[in-house]
Amino acid sequence: MIRAEPMRHKFVDAFPERLERGVLYVALDFATMSHLCACGCGTEVVTPLSPLDWRLTFDGVTITINPSIGNWSLPCRSHYVIKQGVIHWAGDWSDEQIAEGRRRDLLAKRQEQAPSSSPNPIPAPATRRGILRRLRNWLKKFSAYSIAG
Ligand SMILES: [Zn+2]
Repeated sequence: MIRAEPMRHKFVDAFPERLERGVLYVALDFATMSHLCACGCGTEVVTPLSPLDWRLTFDGVTITINPSIGNWSLPCRSHYVIKQGVIHWAGDWSDEQIAEGRRRDLLAKRQEQAPSSSPNPIPAPATRRGILRRLRNWLKKFSAYSIAG
C-alpha cells in the first residue's frame, strides 16, 4: 500500500478560482495556504500561517508544514503531514481525541483572555488566584476601614 504522494507548492499573490490537486498554494501576503484535501474528496482546505496555527518551512526545493493537517470537520476526516513535498498519511483520530484537542484549544484561548469578567467556570489557576487575592485584600482593607470608622 502506497501511503505517500507528492505535494507540490506554488507561491501565489492570490488563490486561483480552481485549485489543482496535489498543489499547495501559499499566499505569503495573506499568511495563508490553500489546497484540495489530499484524499481526493475535492474540498478546499485553508490553513492560516501563524505561530499558533501552521508553520511553513521552505528549504529552497520543497515545503514542510507543521503540525499535521487534520480535516476533522470534513466527512473524509483525512489526516496527513506534508513533509518535504510529500504527503504522509497519519492515522484517524477518535472522537475522544478530537474532543480533547478542542477542549485544550478552548482552555488555552480562555486563559489568554482577560479574567476581569468573572464568574468564569473554566479554571484558569494563575489569573483566578490573582483575582481572589486582590478581592481578599480589598475586603480586608474595606472591613478594617469600616471597623475603624
Ligand atoms: Zn478529503
